[in-house]
Amino acid sequence: MSGSLHTTGQRLLLVDDDALLRGIAAKTLRHAGFEVTEAADGEAALVQFEAAPFDLLLLDVVMPELDGYEVCARIRALPQGARVPVLMLTGLNDSASIELAYQAGATDFIAKPINWTLLSHRVRYSLRAAAAVEQALHSRERLERAQHIANMGSWQIALADEAFACSPELARVFGAAADAVHGATSADFLARVGEVDRETVRQARHAAMHQGQAYQLSFAITRDDGALRTVFEQASPVFDAAGRQVAVEGITQDITDRVEAEQRIRVLAHYDRLTGLPNRQFFDELAGPTLDRSRRLGTACALLHVDMDRFKNVNDAYGHAEGDAVLLALTERLQASIRSCDLAMVGGTANDSVVARVGANAFTVLLVDVGNDSQAATVAERLLNAVAAPIALRGRELVLTASIGIAMYPRDAGDAKGLARCAEQAAYAAKSAGRARHSFFDEAMNLLASDRLARESDLRHAIAEGHLRLQYQPKVDASSGVILGAEALVRWLHPERGLVPPGLFIPLAEESGLILPLTDWVLETACADQRARRDAGLRNVPISVNLSAASFVHDGLLAQLDELLARHGLEATALIFEVTESQLMTNVDRAVERLHELRERGFGLSLDDFGTGYSSLSYLKRFPVHELKIDRSFVVDVCSGGRDGALAASIIALGREFGLRVVAEGVETAEQAAFLLGHGCPHQQGYLFARPMPVAEFDALLVGGVVAGRTRPLVALDLCAARSAA
Ligand code: C2E
Ligand code: CA
Ligand code: CA
Repeated sequence: MSGSLHTTGQRLLLVDDDALLRGIAAKTLRHAGFEVTEAADGEAALVQFEAAPFDLLLLDVVMPELDGYEVCARIRALPQGARVPVLMLTGLNDSASIELAYQAGATDFIAKPINWTLLSHRVRYSLRAAAAVEQALHSRERLERAQHIANMGSWQIALADEAFACSPELARVFGAAADAVHGATSADFLARVGEVDRETVRQARHAAMHQGQAYQLSFAITRDDGALRTVFEQASPVFDAAGRQVAVEGITQDITDRVEAEQRIRVLAHYDRLTGLPNRQFFDELAGPTLDRSRRLGTACALLHVDMDRFKNVNDAYGHAEGDAVLLALTERLQASIRSCDLAMVGGTANDSVVARVGANAFTVLLVDVGNDSQAATVAERLLNAVAAPIALRGRELVLTASIGIAMYPRDAGDAKGLARCAEQAAYAAKSAGRARHSFFDEAMNLLASDRLARESDLRHAIAEGHLRLQYQPKVDASSGVILGAEALVRWLHPERGLVPPGLFIPLAEESGLILPLTDWVLETACADQRARRDAGLRNVPISVNLSAASFVHDGLLAQLDELLARHGLEATALIFEVTESQLMTNVDRAVERLHELRERGFGLSLDDFGTGYSSLSYLKRFPVHELKIDRSFVVDVCSGGRDGALAASIIALGREFGLRVVAEGVETAEQAAFLLGHGCPHQQGYLFARPMPVAEFDALLVGGVVAGRTRPLVALDLCAARSAA
């Protein structure tokens, strides 16, 4: 900038038509360290000035052609000349000439004859003054810019006459035109403060004025454009040199954005972004006081952990945007059914119940003042029904199920965190019991859920030391009871916990990579058992083995199977592999290739858990499978005349169209069996016929070849169903 405080190297333009005087002046100034450029007349001066900027001009007033006033005026009109100091050299010291010079924009005068000793001091002083002015201007601009950026205005109220002065930025804070602040009064300002805060602000100002009290306040204002904003104001008294208060000065800052950001952060920290429900952390906070109150009143609460079954498949098949839409729909249903449930509950208070989202596909519901377990169970069943209503997605109907775990307060745990843990475990148990159901927490579960790592090393041991057991669950022809095959289902015979169902350790095996040695063991055992049956002369039925994703795509699978068949002397038809739709959907091309490889070798292929609505028909055409297994959740209330019946019926029809065998799993009642039979699905599996059983029991059953006692009533019911369908 031009206002450096050092004289050395500062550039002066010296304009005088008197060559002698110009010469002496130039020499003197150069001697003092300035860089001096000379001009003999006004025209030359303007040319020089336009060519390069100068830090100061010395300008003779009386010159031929253009005089000094004219030159000065023209310099001032140039952008780079607006603030440059111009010293007029003049022998005319009448007031008219001085007035003329100021009008032309002169900064100061040096009288002729020139005092050569003082000349360079005068020049230096002028340069210094100019620099100070320049700096002041800069800092004012900086201050204005800073205020602008901070959305802040400053103001002052003089004590003597209560005159109000403020920076232009204050106008911006109030959404007023910049010129509106001229002549504005303190009262104008106060009038814009929101009614609720106005008196507080007025009193604070009054105290600042008359008792010298500083203050800080946040309050609402209404801007001239009608917008409501939040401002922060800080004010303090101003004292003169003698220590008397003369004014109050303050800043007023628009902090609306910050306040909103804080609110947003609060919301982000406490609420789930997608559903707007409280998140896990916030839920714990909310639940605390509710539980305390319940403890004081001696009532019970129930915590329900609602875990959507196989939700990952929805995201895989439809994408996350659609998955989110589904979660939103589910959120609404849960909230709606809690509201209606609570009203139906004895002593229940709808307002205290909380629904929270505690995981990607999991919700938590806290029910207050629950009378007993069966009330909690009733609510759980209502929630399950609410979830199960079809959801329209891209022109198709999606049917979802959930597994609900229930923990009771204070019975199962003493705080929100402990309750949540119990409910989660119970939900896990509900899943492993076949999903689409609720399950209560009991102490036994607690043991199972002990440290994951400990369980992992336990499982590793179990596989290595022969603690796994394979059970067989018959697949039958429901019309005759004839055994058509069996599904091999693994169990863990735990030394302390007894027979552990696969739902409690398969996920762990899949996460930890232990699924590969586990599958090796299952395949080995299934093949050995098959060979033993053949050697015992038992009827030959295929055994279905569940393949987890990792095993299904594993590079060594084909070689392993070849070796197994060769070693046990078995045909590939001795085995059927069950894979789930979602497993195939993660990499369709690879899955199709693998299915072909297995099919070419002669293995049977079954699409497990079918009907959950994820795979599209175009994919089904590409999957070279032999069999579809209708998911248990669609068999459950197949006879209630609702949509599940229709769904099961259409899966059966679909299978027929594709030339596939359809197996219904989870058949528990004669009505279900009859319905399925009536719709052309004789291949069934479920507790109605037989539970999974140890190998010896299954082999014994194979001797007779049929499952006992079911055939006759089924046929009769079959006729009823056929009649009512007609
Ligand atoms: P899944 O393949 O869907 O197996 C059917 C499950 O339903 C079995 O549970 C079976 O006991 C149960 N079930 C059968 N009939 C009925 C019925 O009428 N009512 C009810 N409520 N349930 C019935 P399980 O044995 O607990 O197996 C659970 C899951 O564990 C299996 O589901 C399967 O995904 C997995 N699994 C079991 N064994 C293996 C295995 O050897 N390897 C792999 N990778 N997974 C396995
Ligand atoms: Ca299966
Ligand atoms: Ca299944």
